[in-house]
Amino acid sequence: MTHEVNITRMDAFTYRDLISSGDAVVLIPVGSVEQHGAHMPLGTDMMLSTKMSELTAQQIGAIVGPTISFGYKSQQRSGGGNHIVGTFGFDADTVIGICRTLVREFSRHGVNKIVFVNGHYENYQFVYEGVDLAMRDLAGLGEGPRVMLLSYWDFVTPQVIERLYPEGFPGWDVEHGGVMETSLMLEYFPELVQMDRLIDHPAAELPLYDLFPVDPSLTPASGCLSSGKASTAEKGRILAESIVTGMATAISGRL
Ligand SMILES: [Zn+2]
Repeated sequence: MTHEVNITRMDAFTYRDLISSGDAVVLIPVGSVEQHGAHMPLGTDMMLSTKMSELTAQQIGAIVGPTISFGYKSQQRSGGGNHIVGTFGFDADTVIGICRTLVREFSRHGVNKIVFVNGHYENYQFVYEGVDLAMRDLAGLGEGPRVMLLSYWDFVTPQVIERLYPEGFPGWDVEHGGVMETSLMLEYFPELVQMDRLIDHPAAELPLYDLFPVDPSLTPASGCLSSGKASTAEKGRILAESIVTGMATAISGRL
């Protein structure tokens, strides 16, 4: 049995009841709107960061705040690149400002425990900066919130990686549109994945540097950096179990 944990689907009275103790944990998913090849939707990162947050919240009695749908610019060596149409890249100060505002707003509501659950590789340092600036804003105004920041894929254990990538793990940076995201989407949003449209190719071999202007020929034509061909819903279940267990343990232990 699952219960509603997402505050955007709750009324304000229910939300206020849930946070009234001052002990509530709020998980804020951070995604992007970005091309994910021919086989997955633009909203993959916002959907998966929200789903991983909701599953974790159900386990630990937390709630999920509004998803930050727009992320920092896709970079060629981790997301194919911002030059690809279908990707919406926001400037760093926009991402920083949204995160900073959300910490301040939740704090104003009386929420003292906040977790940012990142689902778009390029976001991380800008979420970090937004949180850091908010902590500075709130310093001296009472105890202030405690904030945790994580990327959900970091909770896939080495054992699961070994089991799901028998031919070798390409790395989270080139997972964009690959086996992890495609398998999780097959498990939770199967109607949005078109495996017959998936373009199979070896993991991208990217240089050790970035170029301006970008050289589009360095990104595979699929827009993905590794192939999702070996993806299955069962792998999605195994990945999610590892992710949710790890996140739940970290959050319960620290906040
Ligand atoms: Zn993605």
